[in-house]
Amino acid sequence: MKSLRGICYNIKEPYIGKIDAVHENSYILRNTEGKECLICDKVVSFGKLFLCRNTNFNIGDIVKILPSGTLIVLYEATSSDNALFVSEQCNNKCIMCPQIMKKKPSDFLQENLEIIDLIDKSPNFLGITGGEPTSEWDSLITIVKRITEKHPTTNIQLLTNGRTFNNEIYVRELKNINDKILYCIPLYSDIAKIHNMIVGNNKAFEETVEGLYNLARYKLPIELRTVVTKLNYNRLEEYAHWICRNLPFISHLSIMGMEPIYQARINIEKLWIDPYEYQNEMYNACLHLIRNNLLFFIYNHQLCVVPKELRRYCCKTISEFKMLYLDECLKCNQKDLCGGLFQTAKNFHSVAIKSIED
Ligand code: SF4
Repeated sequence: MKSLRGICYNIKEPYIGKIDAVHENSYILRNTEGKECLICDKVVSFGKLFLCRNTNFNIGDIVKILPSGTLIVLYEATSSDNALFVSEQCNNKCIMCPQIMKKKPSDFLQENLEIIDLIDKSPNFLGITGGEPTSEWDSLITIVKRITEKHPTTNIQLLTNGRTFNNEIYVRELKNINDKILYCIPLYSDIAKIHNMIVGNNKAFEETVEGLYNLARYKLPIELRTVVTKLNYNRLEEYAHWICRNLPFISHLSIMGMEPIYQARINIEKLWIDPYEYQNEMYNACLHLIRNNLLFFIYNHQLCVVPKELRRYCCKTISEFKMLYLDECLKCNQKDLCGGLFQTAKNFHSVAIKSIED
């Protein structure tokens, strides 16, 4: 999440508000109770004031200001990839997890309800993420209900490891509230042992696959995801075969590059492989998906390091505030179409990055 440092005046407890008006470098915020706060680059007389330079907000952005002097952007009105963070707990322990997990439940429910209430223009998409969002089930249900009531046209994307849905009761409960949720579920290998090793749990493969079948039984849309690492790249083709054979009901498959942050950074030696080195595996896997009419997309891969024939399946998926282009990119005539690199990948990017001139 984007964050800024500043100085708080009269902000004694966390304040969540939406940018309601902008005048030069001043922003007036209003919270769900109608209480105002001003973000400004100079000290002026105002009830609640957050003094901060280099701000660039839009009307409709939602931020949280902490008395310690940190401002966190919770929702960007002009972005299409906003997500509600609902839990810091997870029943997996993924070797490349890009989040910091906590053992004790932390209460994000109230904050998320405030965000949902403050959003004035219903977004096309809204993610729900964590941790594992289903690990705090009652909160998840409350949040999905609130989104469905307040923003009935919004498509919810639930990022889950899918294990909870091996119990059909949970599938039914969620479907009865909203039957248009897209379930975004990672499955890192066609081999149970490899998937379980990556997610750090011996039951995970079995439970996730059962969960996928339960969701399919209720005709719910599924985005299957995999992150390509040194641990699974060499079976990409077999993985594609396995999915076409066993999970033909998924809406699409997302083949993702890894974000080298937190756990992924700690375990980088075990995980990092230059995408240029698995071009053949990627090509053969995708060819099989195309021949079997299974929709797929490639995320977080630079256009110059995927086989030319696959470039049209690459999507710009890295959030702008996390994105980086190298000097080499400045002379690339595909830069506008390329999603670039994660900023955290500055020292872990392909040696083959080379401007495209065709
Ligand atoms: S040179 Fe840069 S902008 Fe061009 S495809 Fe490669 S990573 Fe993308």
